[in-house]
Amino acid sequence: MPKPSPMMKSSFTQFCVLLLLIISKTSAFQNFTGHKLIGMVPRSPDEVMALRNFMDDPEVDFWLEPTHELQNVTVHVNPEAVQKLEGTLRDMGLQYYTITDDLEKWIEREREENYPGSHLQGRTTGFAFDVYHPLDEIVAYLDDVSRKYPNITKLLNMGDTYEGNIIYLLKISSGGNDTRPAVWIDAGIHSREWIAPATALYMINHLLVNYGNDKYVTNLIDTHDWYIMPLVNPDGYLHTWNWNRLWRKNRALAPGFPGVLICRGTDPNRNFDIFFGGPSTSSTPCSSIYKGDHPFSEAESSAIRDGVMAIRDRLLTYFSLHSFSQLWMTPHGYTTLKAPDFKEHMELLTVAITAVEAANGMHYKYGPSAQTLYATSGSASDWVYDVAGVRYSFSVELRDRGVFGFLLPRTEIIPTSEETWAGITAIVSHLQAKEKAKSTSTTNSSTATTVATTTNTESLNTTVTS
Ligand SMILES: [Zn+2]
Repeated sequence: MPKPSPMMKSSFTQFCVLLLLIISKTSAFQNFTGHKLIGMVPRSPDEVMALRNFMDDPEVDFWLEPTHELQNVTVHVNPEAVQKLEGTLRDMGLQYYTITDDLEKWIEREREENYPGSHLQGRTTGFAFDVYHPLDEIVAYLDDVSRKYPNITKLLNMGDTYEGNIIYLLKISSGGNDTRPAVWIDAGIHSREWIAPATALYMINHLLVNYGNDKYVTNLIDTHDWYIMPLVNPDGYLHTWNWNRLWRKNRALAPGFPGVLICRGTDPNRNFDIFFGGPSTSSTPCSSIYKGDHPFSEAESSAIRDGVMAIRDRLLTYFSLHSFSQLWMTPHGYTTLKAPDFKEHMELLTVAITAVEAANGMHYKYGPSAQTLYATSGSASDWVYDVAGVRYSFSVELRDRGVFGFLLPRTEIIPTSEETWAGITAIVSHLQAKEKAKSTSTTNSSTATTVATTTNTESLNTTVTS
């Protein structure tokens, strides 16, 4: 047997190191000891640009992107990169402050507060809405409510993910044979934004337990069909519970990049067929805003597309829940030009914000997405507005404004849910009242005996059988 040459030995060593690196990156619970969260406020467009130069650096994870001068920026940086970033900030003369110098402590605190099964401890019955739940508990909850409320719920399977999890859509309807106006709410397309699915689950519960008991909720269900997809990205969510709390994307391997085993995942909210590959997207699978191979290459974006297209003719309004930074936004994300419905969008946002702030006194900003947050291309809410033709399409960034960011304490779940629900229902009720006023005036001023009603042309029939 020939003796291995030094070159072969060296290649073998490199291979082993790479393998170990891959294993350590993919199978260990990622530890964030010594990882810093840094806050700053750039004072000029030049400083914004200088900070944006770090956006392609995989060691630097912006929680709040630099967008405009005098806007907060929050950045998570690992111990290896912290000196480089802080050195640049000092050279720029830009003041920064440390929010925490050990993110692991925050993650441990969260883990202790929300350990799986914690909803059963010290509680009488059921599923608690003031803790974060792992994937299996959320799936069990959806299964439970679909059995407990068989007359008004239908649990739909909108597709299997890369890792074989089901993307669920819960339809809540008290009748009307799919002719009623519909409301769509989805959450958790970005997996580390735990407050979003927690809020969607609160809404499901609020609708179901109050139907027949509360006049307002009963009317909401008797006049509208509700479609709630509480966890769009179950693969990513599972990863945040089991491996890396700060994972944002799904877990798919990019086709054409077979060697890039360490860098997985597409951002499903850059994967819609609207300005695909435009501003604020990346073609690199290692990027946290990787757009994917082609539009709708991902199960998560496809699930929203299929659900929305099936009811587009009667879909009154669409909400996509994210976190964080406390913003209510309308299209567009890919351009700062005003959307055709800008005036009405602003009217509805004002209605929503008034209700949101009345709930708990919490302040939220609002406006068109690209002006309010930052440019996004290939996003769900733009696609729903431009392509599916749903006039009232919103994306909402929930609490907080950067104190805890994605690691929002569980004590904030209920107040966040309450105020978000207040905003959504204020919009739905406002649109309902406008429609009523319009039809009354149509009936009064015209001799016509028929009033146009919306009809659906397709229906969602893929009921889950479990
Ligand atoms: Zn998000």
